[in-house]
Amino acid sequence: MHALYPWLNETFSRLAEGVRQGRLPHALLLTGPEALGKGRLARRLAQRVLCHQPLEDGQPCGQCASCRPFLVGAHPDLTEMMPEEPGKPIRVDAVRDFTAALQLTSQFGVGKVGLIEPADAMNVAAANALLKTLEEPSAGTFILLVTAHPARLPITLRSRCQRWTVPTPGRDEAMAWLARQPRVAGEDHGLLLDLVEGRPLAALEMAAPEQLAQRTRWLESLLHLLRAGGNPLAVAATIDKATLPDLVHWSTLLVTDLLRVQSGSTMLVNRDLADALRPLARRLDARALFSLYDHLIELSRLVTHPLNRDLLLEDLLLRFDRLGGRP
Ligand SMILES: [Zn+2]
Repeated sequence: MHALYPWLNETFSRLAEGVRQGRLPHALLLTGPEALGKGRLARRLAQRVLCHQPLEDGQPCGQCASCRPFLVGAHPDLTEMMPEEPGKPIRVDAVRDFTAALQLTSQFGVGKVGLIEPADAMNVAAANALLKTLEEPSAGTFILLVTAHPARLPITLRSRCQRWTVPTPGRDEAMAWLARQPRVAGEDHGLLLDLVEGRPLAALEMAAPEQLAQRTRWLESLLHLLRAGGNPLAVAATIDKATLPDLVHWSTLLVTDLLRVQSGSTMLVNRDLADALRPLARRLDARALFSLYDHLIELSRLVTHPLNRDLLLEDLLLRFDRLGGRP
């Protein structure tokens, strides 16, 4: 389980306390500027609501029978709604499916959570269809609407949600966070923040024009290894620019997507690779995938410390190689 971004902690703590005391309303509107991690905050809150053994500090445990499927995007009591492609509208049909899913009985008996991101992608008909659900919520249903543009939602919809605003971190907090990010080591952090209205995540993206190319090369290498085999050591030698945390993160997203395909979900992170992932996922053993997922989570905790990069990459590539998946 990733740590929350530090600037989200206070908002999360207050929300978790609301859950603990049972005084959160059935619909929340999470707002604030783009690229602050609102979606991550919403998912952590959803995980907390569904967790069977929340920790004393309000965090979900990350290990219970609810948290495990949640963390791979395969929780039966979480329903997410987002545009089919970024920038496209959410239509009324999608809202009907969404509300129908929320009316099903909770599989784990804790409740049902619906998450809409970005909520402003709903067109007028879609927003009106959702309004009925917000007016007459089923018992145990909790709906989270995430948007950087609340004014684009009909006021009738907004008025039925409790609004929480995620603040942009202060300059000192943002600078301190950027100073811990290897990806922007040696960069002018103040300038980066200025270019993106003080939002640390956007600053990180700003600094990394090479990022996408590195990610593509890494994922294509992994997919090639899974489909056709090859020499993992030769692959490791071609990946020279990306950081270890990035490589581990991208690998985790890939494994998570493969598990999502196996569970029947169409909500993939690596949407550009969907055509390659679908046939591959069918050939892989779910237990071996879960085991690799656990290993990657463990690695993600370790890779913030200096490690032997080559050894770690070779080990990781061998684990992918052993998954099989060749036709
Ligand atoms: Zn849990």
